[in-house]
Amino acid sequence: MDIADSPAHGDVTEDVNSENSLPHPRPAPAEQPYLPEGVPSTSGPLESSRSDAESLLDPTANEATASPSRPRSRAELYAIVSQVGEGTFGKVYKARNTVTNMHVALKRIRMESEKDGFPVTAMREIKLLQSLRHKNVIRLFEMMVSSGSVYMVFEYMDHDLTGILSQTQFNFTDAHLKSLCWQMLAGLAYLHHKGVIHRDIKGSNILVNNRGELKLADFGLARFYQKRRRSDYTNRVITLWYRPPELLFGATVYGPEVDMWSAGCIMLELFTKKPVFQGNDEISQLDVIYRVIGTPTHERWADAANMPWYELVKPKDHVPNHFKELFKKWMSPAALDLAERLLDYDPSRRATAVQAMEASYFIQEQPTAEQPIGLATLEGEWHELETKRERAKKRKKE
Ligand code: ADP
Ligand code: MG
Repeated sequence: MDIADSPAHGDVTEDVNSENSLPHPRPAPAEQPYLPEGVPSTSGPLESSRSDAESLLDPTANEATASPSRPRSRAELYAIVSQVGEGTFGKVYKARNTVTNMHVALKRIRMESEKDGFPVTAMREIKLLQSLRHKNVIRLFEMMVSSGSVYMVFEYMDHDLTGILSQTQFNFTDAHLKSLCWQMLAGLAYLHHKGVIHRDIKGSNILVNNRGELKLADFGLARFYQKRRRSDYTNRVITLWYRPPELLFGATVYGPEVDMWSAGCIMLELFTKKPVFQGNDEISQLDVIYRVIGTPTHERWADAANMPWYELVKPKDHVPNHFKELFKKWMSPAALDLAERLLDYDPSRRATAVQAMEASYFIQEQPTAEQPIGLATLEGEWHELETKRERAKKRKKE
């Protein structure tokens, strides 16, 4: 049963102070099919017209339906099971809803360093998540306050992609990998259709459950973008290994194409099980990319010379494209083709999520995609955190 539909939903008792209504998600619009670019959305304004304060203090969160058998506060509703994540902004816990017995993930919002009240980054993440509803995007059930900490309550996912690719018990077939790739693209197509750029696509932000469903998570860096008018953003986004060349070349005017480069990196990682472009800093990141797909030429990326940091970071020598040679032992011809279209230097020619979903890899080439439902037989739960702990244990033994 869905927590939002559970009998405890909206349960507030008299001992709960007004903080407990902080902030309660408004219902997101029903799932919409993504439309090819250029087709106007019928979903209305993306950003709520309500003020931040209004949406944080949603009075509907206080509609009391208290009964003595129910937990006395939202905090009592959830029993912590374990820690599953340690992020930049706070810890993530697996918890059990003691009424429905369903698991949830609690993401604690760190408030210590905030002089000015509720952190603006968390506010942005909450507002974005509230406007999204898609089977390949993590669902935010509600917000909760407990002992002075604010928690985001999410549907629970057994694994993340970094964790699941590091384990060796369960072998993904080509049909499974095709499904994971498809689901990632479907999630991105939806986000971009809704006018959201994720800006931090990487393994630990892509969650997978034991039913083989994949969902995009961690909207801490995401933002709404103007589809028609391009504006200036920071280029210090996206974890280095997944960062596209235009950001490494200093671009501040960019669009959803930045996520598609990261998606190309993830597609390769699904097959090789390791991040493919592992640079140490911005310059070495570009060198690693050059060594695999060759250097950008005028034909490949005409606009490169207009990028802010072009003189600083432009390739010193010409390197040819080795991409297909390097990856053909892992990937089929159609998979190689699609990955190469996602890793196009020129953002204006890079495949969009909708175009990628129409690639012959999905439409023509066998096998057809198959959700990895067999994950249910896998022992343990695999998140980046467990992977890091396992690695540390092994290092100690050596
Ligand atoms: P951060 O901004 O700290 O990176 P994330 O939202 O990415 O925060 O969460 C950190 C980690 O916690 C993730 O990499 C993932 O392993 C785990 N995690 C996050 N959300 C969930 C969830 N809904 N279910 C299970 N694990 C989750
Ligand atoms: Mg994260």
